Amino acid sequence: MTRTTDRTQPTDSTKTAHPELLIRLAAPRGFCAGVDRAIQIVEKALQKFGAPVYVRHEIVHNRFVVEDLEKKGAVFVAELEQIPAEHADRPVVFSAHGVPKSVPADAKEREMFVLDATCPLVTKVHREAENHDKADREIVLIGHAGHPEVVGTMGQLPEGKVTLIESADDVATLEPRDPDKLAYITQTTLSVDDTAEIIAALQARFPHVTSPAKEDICYATTNRQTAVKEMAQGCDFVLVVGAPNSSNSNRLVEVAVRAGAKGSMLVQRAADIPWDKLEHARTVGVTAGASAPEVLVNEVIDALSERFKTSIELVKTADERVAFNIPRALRDDATTAA
Ligand code: SF4
Repeated sequence: MTRTTDRTQPTDSTKTAHPELLIRLAAPRGFCAGVDRAIQIVEKALQKFGAPVYVRHEIVHNRFVVEDLEKKGAVFVAELEQIPAEHADRPVVFSAHGVPKSVPADAKEREMFVLDATCPLVTKVHREAENHDKADREIVLIGHAGHPEVVGTMGQLPEGKVTLIESADDVATLEPRDPDKLAYITQTTLSVDDTAEIIAALQARFPHVTSPAKEDICYATTNRQTAVKEMAQGCDFVLVVGAPNSSNSNRLVEVAVRAGAKGSMLVQRAADIPWDKLEHARTVGVTAGASAPEVLVNEVIDALSERFKTSIELVKTADERVAFNIPRALRDDATTAA
């Protein structure tokens, strides 16, 4: 479920002395179904089981969301061992990015009550990796080293079973055991265009490489990039609301520039807006990564409206109606106790 509020009507500032600015607002933008579900899981766990609810890693890559949940009683930890022994019976939530297999195994050993907020579209990639391994295919993962989703996906299989590549150049260095028994999977939040190049290089070198039955780059990543491509054309600058560690948000900045924006930047909040770069701007694009709440988009638009006489043009390229169920233990009719 997206929580976008589309503002298609012009919103004129009363400060007529201010220069005019057209804001091109991309849609879809902001929260995706996986992020929405992950936040719901923490909130419902707090409502149902009370505080504290432990969360391993940032539930989604956004400080605003994390701090809001902290205020409600969520406690974020880097590893399960940081949860005090006397709180071992408290719920512990795994983030939307997914976790290596060793993490649920560790939680089981510690008899913890786990609520898994891994996005179902990340879980789909995990299952693909397992299936390729069962079929004795060597696996290449296209992704960014160190990203939690990549750590989680590589951790579905024993070390050495998945080879990470980050660029088309990396394809040249691959030395598979059997080039006819090779498969690739990808991180869900990559640049659609960059990934297509890497896949083309893989298929050129290994014509029998097995592809995912359905794209691993998720619908939300694809839709946000498509909307930015359309919106960024003719923009003097594009502001992407999102966190520096958010992969899909960073990709939107790159896509905006490639699509024709004269400049683009990630902003976490209105305070980050680079006013010097907007001094002569007449058209500014605004979008948000999949982990950025709409309240921050509105904050950015309000800040622009303080300095400019603004009007808003919605650039909508898709409707999203995707929603994922929360775990049974959190549903209103569930009887499971912590
Ligand atoms: Fe799931 Fe895609 Fe959202 Fe990641 S960006 S949480 S894979 S829907």
